[in-house]
Amino acid sequence: MARPLTAYIDLAALRHNYQLACACAPESQTLAVMKADAYGHGALECARALSDLAPAFAVASIEEADRLRNGGITQPIALLEGFFNASELPRIAERNYWCVVHSQWQIEALANASLVRPITVWVKLDSGMHRLGFSLDEVEPTWHALGVMENVHQRHLMTHFASADLERSPQFVEQLEKARTVARRLDAPVSFANSPATLVHSEAHGAWNRPGIMLYGADPLERATKLSQQLKPVMTLETEVIALRTLGPGEPVGYGGRFKTARPSRIAVIACGYGDGYDRHAPDGTPVLVDGQRAPLAGRVSMDMMTVDVTDLPEVSVGARVTLWGNAATGEALHVDDVARHCETISYTLLTGVLPRVPRRYL
Ligand code: PLP
Repeated sequence: MARPLTAYIDLAALRHNYQLACACAPESQTLAVMKADAYGHGALECARALSDLAPAFAVASIEEADRLRNGGITQPIALLEGFFNASELPRIAERNYWCVVHSQWQIEALANASLVRPITVWVKLDSGMHRLGFSLDEVEPTWHALGVMENVHQRHLMTHFASADLERSPQFVEQLEKARTVARRLDAPVSFANSPATLVHSEAHGAWNRPGIMLYGADPLERATKLSQQLKPVMTLETEVIALRTLGPGEPVGYGGRFKTARPSRIAVIACGYGDGYDRHAPDGTPVLVDGQRAPLAGRVSMDMMTVDVTDLPEVSVGARVTLWGNAATGEALHVDDVARHCETISYTLLTGVLPRVPRRYL
């Protein structure tokens, strides 16, 4: 029998979440962010599943875009970090990729490139995150320079929020105000909204919204809302109990003996570890579902296995289904955000962290 660890990808849930993002912003178009292999879900399969709904996709690099194009995706694909080298520009034009520009050297490269057709550029404004983008002073002359460039077809203004997920964020308010002021001055079509802004900040919606994590069913908000609770988990990471042992009190379990039994205990060994991408820093108590019932991690995560305290569960046997996150066959759910909270991380890292050796099965 094959190793029982599988990431099930529910494409109907993906479509539901995409449609929810569209319903939040009926005046906007919604581009589906598929970078990092669709946050670990498989970019080509996810893009194909959305291809009759989504008018455009977004990725982080030309290699990621090529994988979608070569797989038959015909929609425009936005490169969210733009190009890393001027030599990418001819392919960007040939393959109808939209391109973020964030630095002066890119403007010069665009001016000097020889392209089969002009390309659509998204001019990135640094509205306060201070990662990529032109400053408030730079953005206007850049916008106008691009407007008279032969190699440029359409221009959009974009920015990215650092804290749209927080319930009250002065930084978000400030970023939005700056971005809207620039957009008004330039009379530019805009793209500002990531998942949290798509869900709860309609004032940040623009010509294009760019939700990512919400498409995969994780809640992007600091505090869930009625709307975000309608998101459906797309990935269910599932394995089985491969061994069981009965231990007396005071026995150590796993590397370093971090966990010690406090009572006569039943410990289930399950086939998933950090070699599959599960977070090695998961503390004791991190929940999994065994046959749909919550049980706590007990002991350090190993490369290929983890140990779970099933003392309080009736009748666990070898072969019992274990859900690391997602939906159990019994109908119970364990939210990836819940696991992330225990691990003091975010759903993004858990989902993108699932390694290629874990087979994806598409439902
Ligand atoms: N737009 C840009 C430029 C991004 O970098 C990202 C992700 O980091 C997104 C949109 C999607 O963000 P989220 O996954 O929070 O919706």
